[in-house]
Amino acid sequence: MVEAIKGFEIEIDKNEVCRCLGYRRDQGPNSSISSLIHKEIEVAYGLIQTSCFYQLMDVRQVRRPRVILENGLVITSDVLSRVLSCCRQAAIFLANIGQGLEERVAQLMNEGQMLKATILDAIGSEAAEKTACYLQDKVRELANSNGAEITLRYSPGYCDWDITQQRVLFEAMNSAPLGMSLTEECLMVPRKSVSGIIGLGRFEKRRLTHSPCRFCTKTDCQSRR
Ligand code: SF4
Repeated sequence: MVEAIKGFEIEIDKNEVCRCLGYRRDQGPNSSISSLIHKEIEVAYGLIQTSCFYQLMDVRQVRRPRVILENGLVITSDVLSRVLSCCRQAAIFLANIGQGLEERVAQLMNEGQMLKATILDAIGSEAAEKTACYLQDKVRELANSNGAEITLRYSPGYCDWDITQQRVLFEAMNSAPLGMSLTEECLMVPRKSVSGIIGLGRFEKRRLTHSPCRFCTKTDCQSRR
């Protein structure tokens, strides 16, 4: 069964917005850009409508690089098959911040206000990330209440999980009535959305929370954690 959580508050981290805009930690924006970012964050709070949806599924079989969940849902990823091998359940999820912010970004672009549009777009990315973090916290609370732990969060397009597997998640979640869809290129609509999976397990806690990066051979990966 798909569970929905909507209309919750998130806190947008200005430092993360700056990072998204390409500023280094030791060299932030000048004061006029900084105050514009601050103003656009305030605007964004009025445009964002948070929603997230998740579905708990039993992990039926793990045979690298495939994980088979209940209803025959197949995830193909060597990294995920290692991560989920110690899990009894997994939460597949979709999260988004609605259409309001991206409509405002499009409007700003049409008006030629590219700086504001770029800043607001970066704020939208940070807000989508925070929305997914909120969902992750809820799944953690659920797992903890049953004496279990959760893994890190994974999304199609990251590690070795192919972006086309968005289709598997969207189909399993029956996304259309949730107001979410995919383009032919597997881009999500609304654009500021996050999809993915989180494992839940009741044993070998250390293995659950370990990052798979320690056995991954991608030495040039920027997302190592
Ligand atoms: S190093 Fe990069 S690709 Fe490898 S598991 Fe970590 S995040 Fe994924």
